[in-house]
Amino acid sequence: MTVFNLGSINADHFYRLPHLPAPGETLAAQDYAIGLGGKGANQSVALARAGAEVRHVGAIGEDGRWMADRMTAAGVDCRHVAELPGASGHAIIEVETSGENLIIVYPGANRAISPGQALFALNTARAGDWLVMQNETSAQVEAAQAARAAGMTVVYSAAPFDAGSVRAVIDHISLLIVNEIEAAQLCADFGVTLQELPVARLVVTLGARGATWYDLAAGTQVSAPAFHVTPVDTTGAGDTFAGYLVAGLAEGLPPAEAMRLASAAAALKVTRAGTADAIPARAEVEAFLK
Ligand code: ADP
Repeated sequence: MTVFNLGSINADHFYRLPHLPAPGETLAAQDYAIGLGGKGANQSVALARAGAEVRHVGAIGEDGRWMADRMTAAGVDCRHVAELPGASGHAIIEVETSGENLIIVYPGANRAISPGQALFALNTARAGDWLVMQNETSAQVEAAQAARAAGMTVVYSAAPFDAGSVRAVIDHISLLIVNEIEAAQLCADFGVTLQELPVARLVVTLGARGATWYDLAAGTQVSAPAFHVTPVDTTGAGDTFAGYLVAGLAEGLPPAEAMRLASAAAALKVTRAGTADAIPARAEVEAFLK
């Protein structure tokens, strides 16, 4: 079973500042670090660390080869990551001493993925394979339609939330993953309750309160409480959860077990600073669960 992930790849530039700049102000940063980020790359790394065979479908700019290399080193197959002219997707993350932040995201190559590139990659998929998508790339609708027609299971994280994007793909997806803020936005947009959303299966993550799996077609639900840990950095918790959940489901675990595995992986992630690099390996998660 292969998991194809049509997903963003971003360079996260972190600047530590004495305070956030006012308009017109020039400020010297006290520290700078660069890391691999983007919801897509994070989810691919989580899938690979969970043990799934994962092929990333995405794009980097001329400055992004190091990111594909880092994903490859984490076990992600990057044969369908295109190098396009122009800049890679990147985020400028300014953090002041109080922890307050200011973030600019430039989608760059992530929004230049053509439907043709996505379809070319999905041509190699077999029935029973999985397609994972988030909302930071182009070509989602075409990819979801093709994947559905090919007998794949399509999973969509509706983040960052945008009503138009969700509406465009919702008919083609088998499992929707949202956090509680996105769930509320979705219900408000459709004017329905959670149970009335037009999807077969839905997972709502609730931060330190855990996550709930709804099988809306069957009218059942499963709750996975969060593990009690001392949080250090919650960035990437949702991506770790989504990657581990899909890896568990793709290997045939029942939803309750896949949710437990995902909760444990996400709990371990929040005890560590960083995003992609801080996602735990399967063996660490299994040891945590013992
Ligand atoms: P997102 O990062 O997308 O906003 P959430 O904050 O809902 O997603 O977190 C995703 C999952 O990560 C949760 O369902 C939970 O399993 C785990 N998680 C998040 N925060 C904590 C925490 N403080 N303690 C333990 N687990 C957490």
